[in-house]
Amino acid sequence: MMTDPYVGRFAPSPTGPLHIGSLLTAVASYVDARSHGGRWLLRMEDIDPPREMAGAADSILETVHHYGLHWDGEVLFQSRQQERYEAAVQQLLASGDAFYCTCSRRQIQELSGSSTYPGTCRGCRQPPDQPFAVRLQVEDRDIRFEDGLQGSVHCNLQQQGGDFVIKRKEGLYAYHLAVVLDDAMQGITHVVRGCDLLDSTFSHWHLQTVMGLPHPHYTHLPVIVNDEGQKLSKQTFAQPVPKAEPWPYLLYCLQALGQTPPDSLRGASAACILQWACEHWQLQRVPHQRSIAQQTLHHPAS
Ligand SMILES: [Zn+2]
Repeated sequence: MMTDPYVGRFAPSPTGPLHIGSLLTAVASYVDARSHGGRWLLRMEDIDPPREMAGAADSILETVHHYGLHWDGEVLFQSRQQERYEAAVQQLLASGDAFYCTCSRRQIQELSGSSTYPGTCRGCRQPPDQPFAVRLQVEDRDIRFEDGLQGSVHCNLQQQGGDFVIKRKEGLYAYHLAVVLDDAMQGITHVVRGCDLLDSTFSHWHLQTVMGLPHPHYTHLPVIVNDEGQKLSKQTFAQPVPKAEPWPYLLYCLQALGQTPPDSLRGASAACILQWACEHWQLQRVPHQRSIAQQTLHHPAS
């Protein structure tokens, strides 16, 4: 049977060691790709040095490998892609889709009464002689797409956030720009990631439309939240995934994803568990919700 090519990816930011929430995303995107006979790429989203932690990129790669999640090809480091990002910014400025903006956060707040950008600098087509960001103009209409798990989702970017930054005042390239350009360059067809990024996806969708790039198929997974309802992250003191035996954590992720690994996989190798997962993967068994409470899951070490 011929199927369309599938190219998936896992794209962590090196802000800290891999925690269980990121492992869950990695497992889901890996298994979804492999169960479709697809490729699975790894991209390090290291374009925000102030938020990064020394050694985190290496630690994440080691952990992903230790858990049997073997990626295809070379890891793409976004920190080495700046020329491509700059070329895209210049192209969007030249086409009139982007503009220069000198507004401060406080000015935006005062003008719009919220953090939504009111379009103040839309006419600014020449580089100002003070520090500036570059923003992409959005439209006052609904962007709508069918998510692999969350169903039909939609958002009006003009009302929710407004024209968004693609290059920051400090000269750093925005996450939205880098992700869209790299997904296109790497030929990504399927993006499987946490629901915490669902809002960002509408910005990505708009940027893809403006640049004439294909829209990948998106699936947003529920994120694991702690007792206070917060997503697990370095800020909420999520524990790093230990580089011990992988099986308890892999089985934990599969159970959180609604799969039903048999007890006989307890103590099995990572390769064995992932093979079972790829053969039995049913995306539609993943809870169709935005979050999963951590306390409803068995602790991996128990
Ligand atoms: Zn402005």
